[in-house]
Amino acid sequence: MIGLAIDDRKFSAAILADGGDFISHIECPTPAGGYRDWLVTIRDLVARLDGASPQMPVAVAVPAIILADRVEITPLAHLSGSDLRRDLQSTLSRDVSLAGFGDALAAFHAHDSAGESKGPLVALWIGSSCHGGLAANGKVVTGAHGAAGNWAHLQLPAPVPHELDGRPCWCGRNGCLETFLSTTGLEEDYERVTGDKRTAAQIAATTDGNDIVAESVIQVFEDRLGRATASMISLIDPGTIILGGETSLPKRMCERVPRKWPGYVQIDRSNTHLTFCERGHEALIGGAAVLAARRGA
Ligand SMILES: [Zn+2]
Repeated sequence: MIGLAIDDRKFSAAILADGGDFISHIECPTPAGGYRDWLVTIRDLVARLDGASPQMPVAVAVPAIILADRVEITPLAHLSGSDLRRDLQSTLSRDVSLAGFGDALAAFHAHDSAGESKGPLVALWIGSSCHGGLAANGKVVTGAHGAAGNWAHLQLPAPVPHELDGRPCWCGRNGCLETFLSTTGLEEDYERVTGDKRTAAQIAATTDGNDIVAESVIQVFEDRLGRATASMISLIDPGTIILGGETSLPKRMCERVPRKWPGYVQIDRSNTHLTFCERGHEALIGGAAVLAARRGA
């Protein structure tokens, strides 16, 4: 199977063996143009894959919710409401299936740890936009509208006064979790305090004590992530919360964020583990392929 992950920064493509191993993996920057440029770039990327036979189907992870094969709830305006599956099938002359980033991340880890996890699995993708998925008993739970685990546009829990204003979200509301807990939110927080622009990766890389402002901004991010994940624990009681993304947030978050939970969670949370997924787009590609294979079975 061919797997793809596409977002506003890069496109990744790979051929996956039946066991899930990556045989060939290539990437390219996201094209600057609109919908048609995306289709052409995906066509060219797939053509560059070594060993892609004409019969191989394609599984695509998209930063969106997929409902009845249409792309919904995405910050990428040119994808919103599109019939991307139909158009890619026409462009590639292959069978195509779509998966949202949240479902793909959840599927990748539920598949990896089937039977091992105690309780449901919550998957949180933190990139320039945020996405979530939910799995139980080794399988993704999509919900009635494909939106189970869609955490990005919930409101930040227990906000302090300065967190209540000035956070407009592309979805039309103010103060969504995505405006705080995305790489964009982290970069804007740093710029708000210092007046300087830095990427999330640069901010995260300077938490070794040398940049006191970066340290402070990351600590605030950890506290907000603690509040957000505490709400999910209260509601879903997961055994595992997976954090995925393309930017390497400090690994210390897996130790520090759970320390925030006692202040916000009333239930016992000692069996809930926060874990990093360090495979970035690979996890999305692998998860989209898992979901496509199950649909085809
Ligand atoms: Zn929003």
